Amino acid sequence: MEIEDIQNPRDYLIYSKNVVHSYSKAIGKLLDLSTSYVHDAEKAHEEGKITAVWSRATGWEIPLTYASGIIPMAYSEMGRLSDLESVTIAEDYYQFPQETCSMVKCTVGQWHKRRDSTIKRIIGASVACEPYNLAWELMRKEGFDVHSIDVVYRAPGVKGERLEQLVQFLIEQIHDTAEWLTGKREIDEEKLKIEIQRKNRLIAKIRKILDLRIKNPFYMRSLPSIYLLTGLNTYFGKPEEYEAVVDLLIEELENAPVNKGDLERVIPLVWVGSAGQEFGIYEAIDQANGALLGFRNFPFNTYQEDIPPIEALARHVLGNQEAGASVYVQKVIELELLKVKARGLVLYGYLGCSYGSVAREMWREYFHKKGVPSINLEGTFQVGPPTGQILTRIRAFIEMLA
Ligand code: SF4
Repeated sequence: MEIEDIQNPRDYLIYSKNVVHSYSKAIGKLLDLSTSYVHDAEKAHEEGKITAVWSRATGWEIPLTYASGIIPMAYSEMGRLSDLESVTIAEDYYQFPQETCSMVKCTVGQWHKRRDSTIKRIIGASVACEPYNLAWELMRKEGFDVHSIDVVYRAPGVKGERLEQLVQFLIEQIHDTAEWLTGKREIDEEKLKIEIQRKNRLIAKIRKILDLRIKNPFYMRSLPSIYLLTGLNTYFGKPEEYEAVVDLLIEELENAPVNKGDLERVIPLVWVGSAGQEFGIYEAIDQANGALLGFRNFPFNTYQEDIPPIEALARHVLGNQEAGASVYVQKVIELELLKVKARGLVLYGYLGCSYGSVAREMWREYFHKKGVPSINLEGTFQVGPPTGQILTRIRAFIEMLA
């Protein structure tokens, strides 16, 4: 396959595996895991081999779901299966306004097509996103069993007694969710502890990979790098296989020869945004000698293992960059910029997301004042090539940095 043959995100994954990274078994396996995630989980559920529920791609509900013996299926992963038809269903059948975020419209359109599937349970998070709150209501009416978890928001400066109240509130939410998942409020703490240990172990391994990438920036290019971090949350429904891929990748990176010319050519960048489905953007970054080495969702904190696991889950959320206020993310971006000696910042979000566009504008201004160049891109979620305008902008930005 040549780059000119690519028509959709699935083609990009095949191209990345068979052409760009043909030398790496680990990267090939990582891309396979990501590609087969939704399909394999749906099939295993239909065959009665596993129980699966739809969930976010990140969040405390994922370790809890695994500890309950249930596989979380990230609904955002359905984006790659989406097309204009999903968007049309959301707009014409469910009457979503045209300007609504394409991610929500794609997800709703995909669930609509799965109305006869046996996976009719959704953990819906009400965090910051009004369009998704509307989606939960609509899916309930369509016969889905939706459990909505409530917003937990840590404003800047919240600590002491107020923070402890938030921890207790979140612990209640965790028990509510366990009850919805299993029918019991009690949580198997031993199993949750195992999930927390697994997550901490994998966080350490991913940090190691990201450090190794700084020394060998072109071994793993942009697209699989993004999916490596995405997988750190859901493990693509297959925790043991994901960890085996991570181990293999460490081994490969430790032994791969480093090309000195790569270190002279590379333009280190920090990626601030969602995974995105417009894979042509990643290809444009790679072709311009850019390398996404730093990430907004860098796993900078681990779970406490010296306190009860349910409390550890709650404290991890409230001590993390996703705790609420955008200043928490800002701190992580700042550290990432320094660590990878980034020359620029790529801010990416979806059209129609007022929450994301405000945060991106805030970060753009903050880092602009510090002299860090950035580009603010808005894309869409459904399958299809990125617009020429986005590609031209990203190429021009990286050329400017060079
Ligand atoms: S991009 Fe924004 S509007 Fe879209 S799902 Fe995410 S938070 Fe909601």
